[in-house]
Amino acid sequence: MTFDPRVGVFPGHCPHCGEVINAATSETGSTLIRPKAGDFSICYACLGLMEFMDGGRLRKIERKDLSPADRELVDRVLRERREMQS
Ligand SMILES: [Zn+2]
Repeated sequence: MTFDPRVGVFPGHCPHCGEVINAATSETGSTLIRPKAGDFSICYACLGLMEFMDGGRLRKIERKDLSPADRELVDRVLRERREMQS
């Protein structure tokens, strides 16, 4: 697996559940915004939190690692995800 700068995500596996991760979208669903180091992500499969590092690799983080504003954003995204599934 190689890094594709057009995608901005180094292909790998979710550090929470092992799901293959090879793409990311912004909170608005855009694939045009490339993630940068320090951005966080939510696994589509398990909803685990991750943070992008240099080169598009992901590391496992926990909710407590987020800023209060990012915690609010995560809560909103998870709430919307649950509403979509119900
Ligand atoms: Zn996962």
